[in-house]
Amino acid sequence: MKDKQINTASSISTYTLNNFPNGVFITNTSKEIVYCNDYFSTELGWEPGELIGKSVDIIFTLASKVFYQTYLIPTLLHEKICEEMQLTMINGKGIRIPITVNVKSDNAGLIYWSFFNASKRDKLYEELIQARETLEQQAEQLKLLASTDELTTLLNRREMKYRSILAIELAARSHYSVALIQLDIDHFKKVNDMYGHPEGDRVLKELGIRLKEFARKTDLVSRFGGEEFLILLPDTNKQDAILFCQRLHQLIGEIKAGDYYTKASIGLTISRPDSIFKTLYTEVDNALYKAKESGRNRTELYNKTYKKP
Ligand code: GH3
Ligand code: MG
Ligand code: MG
Repeated sequence: MKDKQINTASSISTYTLNNFPNGVFITNTSKEIVYCNDYFSTELGWEPGELIGKSVDIIFTLASKVFYQTYLIPTLLHEKICEEMQLTMINGKGIRIPITVNVKSDNAGLIYWSFFNASKRDKLYEELIQARETLEQQAEQLKLLASTDELTTLLNRREMKYRSILAIELAARSHYSVALIQLDIDHFKKVNDMYGHPEGDRVLKELGIRLKEFARKTDLVSRFGGEEFLILLPDTNKQDAILFCQRLHQLIGEIKAGDYYTKASIGLTISRPDSIFKTLYTEVDNALYKAKESGRNRTELYNKTYKKP
């Protein structure tokens, strides 16, 4: 293994700075360029004759020249080395190129410069920033999709359950009650049958929009399944909740599917200090069943004497 490496190295006849894929040049104490490698001509469009003997100012922008005088020279005097400076060079065609520069000086006052073209790095950085912004937007979008119902943009079942559990816990701790409302559109199958499924979808969508407008920002409004909506009103007592449900009936009655005015049945329950989501949901489900059974298009408040068969 060792022999092989030696043989490979010995097969290279000459070593030259011109083979390096980066720029190398040397300046003297008078800021004159005394050497530059071929990178200047092959990559930057400068002919050696245009640079050798010229002041280094010729290849730098004004800002880079100021940086050279105020930072680079003092640093070299103290430390003999200065690394990873971001400067701007001008190529033979007058185009500005961002570069990353490492510089070293010797006791004779010669300064040895090596630099890398940083255009690609800057471009990559910009692309990286752009990609990160896109990812953040997509993550936001995903979060929204995971928590909302696509058709109505209301909270979906999972998110509603999660937020309701928290809201009910908070209510118990803060000694106030919440109202849980389950709303189910009456005879919605007939709406689909008479006017078509797309019209049914449109009704659901319109109801979603209206519910959002109607509710307070702090209310939780969800599409809990097909044509069922679950609503939680924080800090709400029985009287206010009943009033809210009456207004809900009016609001739903304004939504038309063809000639048919939509109607809905509503189940309502009010939390107690020991309430949890699961029991409240069972209660509201029982109340809704009773509303359906009692003729639909009405609100029923949960009554513990009544149980869904
Ligand atoms: P009830 O008064 O007893 O609630 O009768 P209903 O017809 O509303 O209830 P049922 O449970 O018999 O039928 C629900 C209907 O809701 C049937 C189903 O096709 C419709 N539905 C559920 N989800 C959607 C949806 O996303 N879009 C449309 N267009 N219809 C839906
Ligand atoms: Mg239903
Ligand atoms: Mg229904």
